[in-house]
Amino acid sequence: MKFVVNEPSKIPDPDSVICSYCKKTIAEFINDKMIPDPETCYKNGNIPVPNFGWLCSFECAEKIEKKLDIKFMRTPEGKIDYYQA
Ligand SMILES: [Zn+2]
Repeated sequence: MKFVVNEPSKIPDPDSVICSYCKKTIAEFINDKMIPDPETCYKNGNIPVPNFGWLCSFECAEKIEKKLDIKFMRTPEGKIDYYQA
């Protein structure tokens, strides 16, 4: 599984990964490594969105959809998950 959610130049704060909506810290970059690693964040319920960024929760995803007038892809179960196997 490979997570590519942002080009490095688009990351406003390269020291950490934050929720695109509430700005909560999801992970930190330590020696260019994401801690916890992306797979762990994903398992913990954080939502990576390709070419967009990370969201800490489904609630934040819905709020930012409304705020930006966008729609993320949904799985048949209604989840936002671009990395489902
Ligand atoms: Zn959030």
